[in-house]
Amino acid sequence: MVILISDAFDDQLNETLKAFGEVTTDKSRQSEAEIILIRSKTKVTREYIDASPNLRMVIRGGVGLDNVDQVYASEKGIIVKNTAEASTTAVAELAFALMIALPNHIARADLSMKEGKWLKKELKRTELFGKTLGILGLGRIGLGMALRARAFFMNVVGWNPHIQGSEFVELCPTLENMLNRSDYVSIHLPLQESTKGIINKETLKSFKHGAYLINTGRGGCIVEDDVVEALKSGQLAGYATDVWNTDPPENSPLINAPNCIFTPHIGASTKENMGRIGKIVERLIGNYINEMQEKPVS
Ligand code: NAD
Repeated sequence: MVILISDAFDDQLNETLKAFGEVTTDKSRQSEAEIILIRSKTKVTREYIDASPNLRMVIRGGVGLDNVDQVYASEKGIIVKNTAEASTTAVAELAFALMIALPNHIARADLSMKEGKWLKKELKRTELFGKTLGILGLGRIGLGMALRARAFFMNVVGWNPHIQGSEFVELCPTLENMLNRSDYVSIHLPLQESTKGIINKETLKSFKHGAYLINTGRGGCIVEDDVVEALKSGQLAGYATDVWNTDPPENSPLINAPNCIFTPHIGASTKENMGRIGKIVERLIGNYINEMQEKPVS
């Protein structure tokens, strides 16, 4: 059995998986692979699947499966798995780091010092204490963000039409109501039809003037041009994002927009998380092999 590691995983994984079969990182061997490991870089499209006649299982190291054509994979009998629970801490910590960095002007202060400037008077900070954080996407990572925000004595509200209540977050009746109450809004949504462009010209009108937006969900959840307009008008005081329409961004208007902090999709990329993902991958492949061995020969 050929296992293709198509994207970046823990260095150890290559060795560990040798117990299950021949492990390769050589993408030209895609057509031989029975199991392919991906993160966000490899796009498992219809064409990719058609070019992989031996493929039986795709494992996405991470959460979002928007880079996999799940419908076509299912038609072809290909099992698609992710390592959903592994990344929660890593992403929640990055989202929180971005939320602290925005009102404290960490990036601008650092850059100005390196440019020989002394912006002591210009850089006016504000505190998180007592402010309201609105969470869009109250799943694993959204909840992780909520718990961290409560430790900083923030009020935490959220909006999620799929859940009835939450122990740690006050649920708002509508998205508009949540946006209207929040000094900070943090996106923790998957990219799907209902979330695509959910932050746009219209919904930005419901934000408090001067609110901050943090996005570690997906780039496609916001309309970039509309967020840039809101930053220029001051409707948004700042935007921090780890996620983009493409990795890396191509001609994104955000790059030159004011009051932004950017990271290159590193939400899941902690050393600890790579280890956790590796363990889950190992377990998934072990289970797959066991199931194959138990299947009666027809
Ligand atoms: P999760 O499935 O636990 O949570 C997603 C939540 O969004 C669920 O509670 C769901 O009910 C809610 N939701 C779905 N559609 C909605 C809608 N239209 N309106 C409001 N809520 C809606 O997933 P998670 O582990 O918390 O991850 C969330 C997302 O974070 C992933 O889907 C992925 O896009 C992103 N992510 C990013 C990185 C990164 O590197 N920056 C890493 C991992 C995950």
